[in-house]
Amino acid sequence: MHGPCSSIKSREMLSQERIKFKTERVGAIPEDLLNSPAFIALAGKVSDAIVELEALGATPVMYDGLVGGNAAFILTKDQLPDTQRQHAPLLVVTKSGKAPNRRPSIADGDFVVAVGFDRTQWKVDYWSVCGEKPTSDTPLHYAALMPREGRQQPQVAIHGHMFSTEEDAQLNGLPISKELTLFSTPEDLHALQELMDAFPYPDYRVYIRKGHGFFSVGDTVEMAMENVRCLKQAKSTAGKSDAA
Ligand SMILES: [Zn+2]
Repeated sequence: MHGPCSSIKSREMLSQERIKFKTERVGAIPEDLLNSPAFIALAGKVSDAIVELEALGATPVMYDGLVGGNAAFILTKDQLPDTQRQHAPLLVVTKSGKAPNRRPSIADGDFVVAVGFDRTQWKVDYWSVCGEKPTSDTPLHYAALMPREGRQQPQVAIHGHMFSTEEDAQLNGLPISKELTLFSTPEDLHALQELMDAFPYPDYRVYIRKGHGFFSVGDTVEMAMENVRCLKQAKSTAGKSDAA
């Protein structure tokens, strides 16, 4: 079920400049995980969501010809095959650099498993099918979805480069980060975490990253998508999206 590893090279080079943390591919995604029902089902739902987000214009094509948006989900211990349970919970993210108008698939390597995130070293260890890298927003997804003591954490997160202004936040009654931060940096992670701490899930389910886009979370893909379908775009800002 492996995709054509040779054809990904040019897209991977394009996406490389988006990632601002160290990455280490520590292995291929194990076959039993690739074939597990929960992984297949959740990846399928996320792929449907990504297709819908593109159709809605919520993940516009960016300066590099790639889509401005990504998604992630958690696989809990009981969703993993026996042989992988020692790794639970696992964070699955979309790969860095999605080409437009293409439904993601496990076989083509569109999903990457983050198996470790070291905040001090600013480094992500991951498994991928052919050498694809995790989305540049992996640290955000890690912080938003991985279990934290005393906190109810969502299971799914989706992000797109729409709804990025004070006006958008105000119109929809959503929390917005105070400062512009460069995506994929520790400052960006800190800004989102501050926001999620001040406006905790599940009372709040959509967060606006100023000048960047929305971050929607839920217990299911459907819940995270429903949040986005309900959003209205402030008229004065329609069409603007100025950060990657
Ligand atoms: Zn982004």
